[in-house]
Amino acid sequence: MTDVDFCVVGGGFAGLTTALRLKQAGRSVAVLEARDRVGGRTFTELREDGSWIDRGGAWIGPGQDRIYALMNEFGVPSYRQYTDGEAMMVVDGKQYRYTGTIPWTMSPWAAMNLGAIFLELGHMCKSIPLEAPWTAKNADKWDQITLAHWLDRNILSKPAHELLETAIAGCYTSAASEVSLLFVLYQMASGGGPSFVLGVKDAAEDARPVGGMGALYRPMAAEIGDSIHLSQPVRHIHQDADGVTVRSDELTVRARRVIVAVPLAIASQILYEPMLPIDRSLLHQRMPSGAIFKIAAVYDEPFWRRDGLSGQSAAPGSPATVTIDACTDTGRPGVMCVITEGPIARQIGQLDEAERRAAILGALVERFGEKAGAPVDYIEQNWSAERYSGGGMLSHAPTGVLTQFGHALREPCGRVHWAGTESSAVMCGWVDGAIRSGERAASEVLELETVTALEGRLHRL
Ligand SMILES: Cc1cc2nc3c(=O)[nH]c(=O)nc-3n(C[C@H](O)[C@H](O)[C@H](O)COP(=O)(O)OP(=O)(O)OC[C@H]3O[C@@H](n4cnc5c(N)ncnc54)[C@H](O)[C@@H]3O)c2cc1C
Repeated sequence: MTDVDFCVVGGGFAGLTTALRLKQAGRSVAVLEARDRVGGRTFTELREDGSWIDRGGAWIGPGQDRIYALMNEFGVPSYRQYTDGEAMMVVDGKQYRYTGTIPWTMSPWAAMNLGAIFLELGHMCKSIPLEAPWTAKNADKWDQITLAHWLDRNILSKPAHELLETAIAGCYTSAASEVSLLFVLYQMASGGGPSFVLGVKDAAEDARPVGGMGALYRPMAAEIGDSIHLSQPVRHIHQDADGVTVRSDELTVRARRVIVAVPLAIASQILYEPMLPIDRSLLHQRMPSGAIFKIAAVYDEPFWRRDGLSGQSAAPGSPATVTIDACTDTGRPGVMCVITEGPIARQIGQLDEAERRAAILGALVERFGEKAGAPVDYIEQNWSAERYSGGGMLSHAPTGVLTQFGHALREPCGRVHWAGTESSAVMCGWVDGAIRSGERAASEVLELETVTALEGRLHRL
């Protein structure tokens, strides 16, 4: 039995931040992490040539002040994403090169539709109160319909529809018919609007930490030190009047409070005693993650740059749906990141590894030429097959969930508190949101402890 002030379940960015801030405040902590590594949905692989591959979360952008602050704290510099050259859209087999966020080189009608929808989404996002999106004026109306329903009603151009459906639903790694419009607007608003979410430069994929996300989570874990216990999936949390008892297969931790920092659907795999309040319990069953493959095709050099391309491309329906240049700050080797999400990720998940690799490289050859077919290395990460993530990039809410159960996202359940990117009102779904949630959870339990101590003193007087 380990006796500590606070127990943290999960060693992703949310759990690590919670533990770090609690330790810095002079409290004892135990972090129980299910995997044999920390980082969760971020996972940086170091390569022999000194480069690195981010198999999960990678990019950062303006407004993500908490990750920048943490990078500052640990002396991790950032570098800008390569955006020189043209991006590419492939619709109905036709390639369109363009610069900026909107592919203006497609038909003027399609481009007009895209521009109008961006404006409309931005306008709708402004009406969402981030701390309580379920109180938005149109919350009930927007939570009754899916993203697919709204796109069908509002976009007349077929290629524009296809592109936006791929781009927006892609963020939730699910079909547009699975996601509530209110949730889409809330998640976009939490990042500052559609231009941030769907853009690259000066937006969500503006920069990266030098050394990848691991350059940040490794020193965090080092500072937390031997309070982190790896390969300890938590099975059981029991709370009583004085504290909590948290059990993995091998360890039992006794603490005053526990902070659970795991994805929502995964949190339902833990047995809570007594049972959680009904709304939190049902919320766990109602916020799934989607399917996503993230692939790094590594070449001696980023040959697409010489061809005037940024490496950024989108091709609805293709097994290589989205690509982006993922080179390190030195620009060598050439790393092309391929992201395949939602229904197509589920389809290519049925193929064996060799068939999937052939399908993806074939799609890259069509887009970037023969050189794309012969990478020196090929690294595939299937997040849907990760037991302790259950998919990625983030959990989403289907229709009706935010308005009915949203209030339970952050509400503590007695001595059980919640962190995780999905519980962050700002930058929900990003690493920055995970960090914010960890800082909020740490303050929450520290404040409660102060109040309890004061009440105790008053009682004695
Ligand atoms: C492919 C992909 C690309 C992404 N790209 C970006 C990006 O470019 N930029 C960005 O900001 N974000 C990105 N994200 C999202 C980002 O990675 C997440 O928002 C963030 O990592 C979530 O952190 P978290 O701590 O909330 O959850 P997690 O990272 O999921 O951490 C939860 C931890 O809990 C552990 N755990 C689960 N169950 C148990 C249990 N029972 N007991 C103990 N431990 C348990 C897990 O192993 C995990 O370590 C991406 C995600 C994916 C998957």
